[in-house]
Amino acid sequence: MPTRNRQTDACPGVLAVHRAADGGVARIRVPGGQLSAAAFRAVADGAAELGDGGVELTSRANLQVRGLADGAETELAARLSEVGLLPSATHDKVRNVLASPLTGRDRDGFVDVRPLVSELDAALRENARLAALPGRFLFALDDGRGDVAWLGADVAALATAPGAAAILLGGTDSGLRAPLTDVILLMLACAEAFLTERADEWRLAELDDRARRRVATRLGASVAEPLPSQPIQTGPLGQVTESALVAGAPLGWLDRAQAAALADTGAPLVVTPWRAVVVADLADTADVAQRLRSAGLLLDPDTPRVTACVGRPGCAKALSDVRADAGPVPGVDVPVHWSGCGRRCGRPRGEVLDVVANGDGYVMTRGDR
Ligand code: SF4
Repeated sequence: MPTRNRQTDACPGVLAVHRAADGGVARIRVPGGQLSAAAFRAVADGAAELGDGGVELTSRANLQVRGLADGAETELAARLSEVGLLPSATHDKVRNVLASPLTGRDRDGFVDVRPLVSELDAALRENARLAALPGRFLFALDDGRGDVAWLGADVAALATAPGAAAILLGGTDSGLRAPLTDVILLMLACAEAFLTERADEWRLAELDDRARRRVATRLGASVAEPLPSQPIQTGPLGQVTESALVAGAPLGWLDRAQAAALADTGAPLVVTPWRAVVVADLADTADVAQRLRSAGLLLDPDTPRVTACVGRPGCAKALSDVRADAGPVPGVDVPVHWSGCGRRCGRPRGEVLDVVANGDGYVMTRGDR
C-alpha cells in the first residue's frame, strides 16, 4: 500500500487543480455555501468559457469546474478573485465551512450563524499556520436545527441555546461546551491541535484515540454529557419560506442553462451540502420557480435524491458512463449514489443505496457510512 505523506494532498483548489481525464478540475471554496448571484455568475461564465460548461455542487457545499485546459486556472483564479471567491492564495484549499443553509431565513435555529461563518473564514485566513490544514479538513456551524452538525465535520459547533454551543469532533459530540462567542477561537484551536497531533492523517477522525483525546484536552472548554449522534438529514427542495426556494441540481451537476438560470435570479444564493441551491430574498417565488423548473432544476419536494460521480470519460478510473446511466431506483426510500468504481467519490453521508460499476454492470448495496 502506498504511504501517504503531507506532500501529497491531492485535494484540488482553484490554484492547484486536479488533472483528470477530461482536463483540470478546480474546486471553489464557498464558506457556508453563501454567495451572491454575481459571484455565482462568475463561476458559471468561467465554466462556460474556460471549462466544460457545467458546475458541480459538492457534498461540502463547494463548487467545482472541470474540463479546464492547461493553464486556464490562472484566468479562472483572476475572475474568481474579482468577485471575492478567492480571497487568499495561501488558504485557497482550507476554507471548508459548512453552515445551516437556511440559517437566519426561517425560525428553525437558535441563532443566525452567518456572521459566525464570516468570522471563522476571516480568522482562518489570518492564521498562517492553518494554511497547512489538509484540503479535506472541514468545519461546520449548525444553528441548532441539527442539519449540518452530524455530517462528519472535523470540528463542528452546534448551537444548543441562543448563546451556547456543543463542540463536535470528527462527527460525534465531544462533550465540550462553550458560549457561542467563544466557538470560533475554539474551532481554530482545535484545527491547530490537529496539526500538532497529526502524522499522516488527513482528518481528525483518523487520529488514534489518544491523539483525539489530546486534541480535546488542548481546547480547555467545559465538559458535559455528550449528545447522542443524530440521524443524517437530507435538506428540503422547493419553497421553504415565503421568500426562499431550494432548487436541486440533477445528479449534483448544473448544466450551462441551469447555472445561468440561477445567476439570472439576481438573488442571494446558498449552496447546500445536498447538491441544491437556496435562492433567497425573492419578491415573487412563483415566477422564479417557474423559470428554474423550465431550466431543468428540481423543485418538487418529493424528487428522488440521486447523485453520481463524473464517471467515464471524465475520470480515467471509471468503468462506465455513470451520468448517462444514473437515475432513481424504484422502491428505494434513501438517496441513491452512482459511482464508476469502488471509490464512490461524492457519496452523500448517511444511509445511501450505492450503485457501483464493476465492469459488467452495476452492483447495488445499501448502507450507512
Ligand atoms: S468514484 Fe471512481 S470513477 Fe467515480 S470519480 Fe471517483 S475515482 Fe472516478
